[in-house]
Amino acid sequence: MNQAHDIIHRFSFTDGPVRGQWVRLQEVLEVLNGHQQYPGNVAGLLGEMLAAVALVADGIKFNGAVSLQSRGPGPLTTVLAECRAQHLLRGIARWPDAANLPDTDSLGELIGDGQLALTLIPANADQPYQGLVGITDNRLAGNLERYFLDSEQLPTRLLFAGTGESVTGLLLQRLPDSDHATEIELDQNEAFWEEIGMLTSTLTDRELASLDPQTLLRRLYATHPLTLQPPRNLRFSCTCSREKTAATLKAFSRDELLALIDEEAPPKMPGEILVTCEICGAVERFDAIDIHLLFEPETPRIH
Ligand SMILES: [Zn+2]
Repeated sequence: MNQAHDIIHRFSFTDGPVRGQWVRLQEVLEVLNGHQQYPGNVAGLLGEMLAAVALVADGIKFNGAVSLQSRGPGPLTTVLAECRAQHLLRGIARWPDAANLPDTDSLGELIGDGQLALTLIPANADQPYQGLVGITDNRLAGNLERYFLDSEQLPTRLLFAGTGESVTGLLLQRLPDSDHATEIELDQNEAFWEEIGMLTSTLTDRELASLDPQTLLRRLYATHPLTLQPPRNLRFSCTCSREKTAATLKAFSRDELLALIDEEAPPKMPGEILVTCEICGAVERFDAIDIHLLFEPETPRIH
């Protein structure tokens, strides 16, 4: 599969302490929409959350998983996006009652009076870190901007724009001033950040969603030299496996599973249990022999 559209870039300005990131996802969204019929507004939010975890994972030196999850009393009960090893993305959204899902992009209406949880799970045995932010803005970007400011003391501008088939994110972050900065330098840094913020606010959704990063950055920040790093590829990747599915099935007894096979089987056909991963759509099949093998004690090999 061509993954050329799923890339992330970093950039930094020559004239002031501001860093940036640009991300676009398309193939990842195609994979997700390929097995789940996500309504447009849910797919849009899931896409933005996937772009967000890609940005967060890329912005920190972190070898593990970054996840962003929404929780709230609204009709969209869960949206979960995850980025592993800085480039492997997967996500899922749940809305138990489709009739109650409003046709809106407003987080307040979709998720309700809930919160977003950003979790960093290190690959080693270190403790996970979780930060929470209440949903007070109807846009994901607005809530995350506040998270970065409140939890990490980093003034941030974050924008997302989608086309229905792709999502593009742009993040700008004010870096801390150097300890030795003079008053004049501090003023200059602050003025530079304000200038970049002002220029950024002239960007339209249409430009963000359609322009390539080179053209966008050249047009938007024409008079401010910057260095654009080479892109990194991102791709969809699920963590499901036959072993994990088997472990889940073992929560039932052998008899319960065999009874389930009989129920599901058409007459005179060998029955099987089909377990579909709700994230990637992969199907694992377990027939009666597989079920018996699940419950065989592992025989130690003597030879
Ligand atoms: Zn899967």
